[in-house]
Amino acid sequence: MIIDLRSDTVTKPSKGMLEAMFSAEVGDDVFNEEPTVNKLEEKVAALFRKEKALFCPSGTMTNQIAIKVHTQPGDEVLCDTTAHIYNYEGGGISFNSGVQAKLIPGERGRISAQQVVESINPTFDWLTKTSLVCVENTANRAGGSYYTLDQMKQLHQVCKQNKLAYHLDGARVFNAIVENDYTPMDLGNLFDSISVCLSKGLGAPVGSVLLGDKEFIRKARRVRKVFGGGMRQAGYLAAAGIYALDNNINRLRDDHKRAKQLADTMKSLSFIDNVLPVDTNIIIFNLNDKLKPEDFVKNLAKHDIKATGFGKQAIRFVTHLDFTDDMLDRTEKVLKSM
Ligand SMILES: *Cc1c(COP(=O)(O)O)cnc(C)c1O
Repeated sequence: MIIDLRSDTVTKPSKGMLEAMFSAEVGDDVFNEEPTVNKLEEKVAALFRKEKALFCPSGTMTNQIAIKVHTQPGDEVLCDTTAHIYNYEGGGISFNSGVQAKLIPGERGRISAQQVVESINPTFDWLTKTSLVCVENTANRAGGSYYTLDQMKQLHQVCKQNKLAYHLDGARVFNAIVENDYTPMDLGNLFDSISVCLSKGLGAPVGSVLLGDKEFIRKARRVRKVFGGGMRQAGYLAAAGIYALDNNINRLRDDHKRAKQLADTMKSLSFIDNVLPVDTNIIIFNLNDKLKPEDFVKNLAKHDIKATGFGKQAIRFVTHLDFTDDMLDRTEKVLKSM
């Protein structure tokens, strides 16, 4: 039994998902005649009550398309210091859109309306034009923390008042939704565009969906083609996404429960200095100075447990669909024996 805690992207399609993929009806999506992709896009758009959706190969692509459509070269996007769009998309903000980021030191990955107000540039010729605010919910690098509906509403107000586009990097938005009293529709009402990953906690092998109004998606579709993301018989992948949405949303709560239990166990271990608060399926913890992260990871690997370092003394564990209660037991035993 190999236990893989590196990411929630490591899941493999279940039998039911494979069957759904195998029997998908397909066509050519670049010609706009892919029945299963259309079905997925309509389903996600309806769920968030947005006009249109666009199926893309990755969450990096959905975010980068959104940035490209919302900005002009030379503009500025506001996001948290830890944001995925800034840290983990290969410099795509500048590479793809010729845009720069102004980083805001948020609270565990969450920026506030007040911070955004203070970060918007006045309209002098010599200042960069602020045109987009991007929030991440849940926030990955910050350890899976989530925004409250109220926080997102306040940010929406500021964006509206200042004519800024408002994008949600919702790679793990369903992890936030199952822990909160807001619905996908509530989020659809607030954001101009939303990116949702099907290949993280939802367990699909590939794919993300970008949401917005008709005009936004018309432009996004063009940018997707330019970025090389126009796919053909992508219905086989879309079928996995439909299956994921039908079966794997509510069970995210199990991942959260397991993450919290694992974190509680870890707090009492002598070689662990501290464990960050666990709100969803991500556990970030710091080893004490005597233990090198490389050695800790190697030691886990000897017990068939995979994990990765997350900077300095930190390690990240992510729970997911293929991390069972038996694996939780095993992991706890191994950690206690170290
Ligand atoms: C994983 C992730 C993405 C998208 O990543 P891809 O691997 O390109 O699908 C975007 N934002 C966040 C916060 C993520 O965790």
